[in-house]
Amino acid sequence: MAVTVRDALARSGLAPLDARVLLAQALGFDRAWLVAHDADPLSAHQQAAFEALAARRRAGEPVAYLTGSREFWGLPLAVDASVLIPRPETETLVEQALNMMRQKPHPRVLDLGTGSGAIALAIAHERPDASVEAVDVSPRALALAQRNADRLKLANLCFIQSDWYEALPRGRPYDLIASNPPYVPEGNPHLSEGDVRFEPSAALRAGVDGLDALRVVIGHAPRYLAAGGRLLVEHGYDQARAVRALMADAKLEAITTHCDLAGLDRISLANKSV
Ligand code: GLN
Repeated sequence: MAVTVRDALARSGLAPLDARVLLAQALGFDRAWLVAHDADPLSAHQQAAFEALAARRRAGEPVAYLTGSREFWGLPLAVDASVLIPRPETETLVEQALNMMRQKPHPRVLDLGTGSGAIALAIAHERPDASVEAVDVSPRALALAQRNADRLKLANLCFIQSDWYEALPRGRPYDLIASNPPYVPEGNPHLSEGDVRFEPSAALRAGVDGLDALRVVIGHAPRYLAAGGRLLVEHGYDQARAVRALMADAKLEAITTHCDLAGLDRISLANKSV
């Protein structure tokens, strides 16, 4: 008896959504097609292509790396193992960033540690009048982010290879600096669970307290912010107090923390004095 779409999904040993996404990927159709063709037989070649993806998923590889894409802020982004997979909680950061710039025409924006380009691309997409600079230390990540910008036909942003602020010229102050830096403490059990195991360590780990990168991003921000400019950072759910203290040490003002959609402290923001 021929194996049908329905059989392949049922026997895959995967969570139902993962199975549908990966079968659609293997066949080159979308998920709606699978619904309409669930009694169609699969060729041996199609079965083998799906089984190869399913086996990798069963071994733990993230679905986004297997399909090579993830949607962020409604934008289809290419992703690979050189970058963190964009997370829904980071959309909270984008939302706050857009709110903060509502009154500011032609804002100059910096995204530190851009990875796939998610934050920078979302802002550049929403604000065609903005000029966005996106920094990453990884050339592979930058190449991917540039590919995403090209595909989305976004021309109001550029990518710079830099270790945080290091390669940025002084004297061109930003109206907004945004960052989702690594913030997971070394040795945190989260690092050895699930999809995270396959993501780049440099995008996740940040020293014993998880604050190494945030110390750099926050500590140097005043030198790169315009008067009245804003800083927004993503952080761990239990790091808000420490992050606000770093912001206060850097003489930033109007420091607040906002929750993500799961109700966890996730984003802190501050202003440079006017
Ligand atoms: N939120 C991510 C996680 O928990 C961590 C992302 C980061 O370190 N920037 O997996």
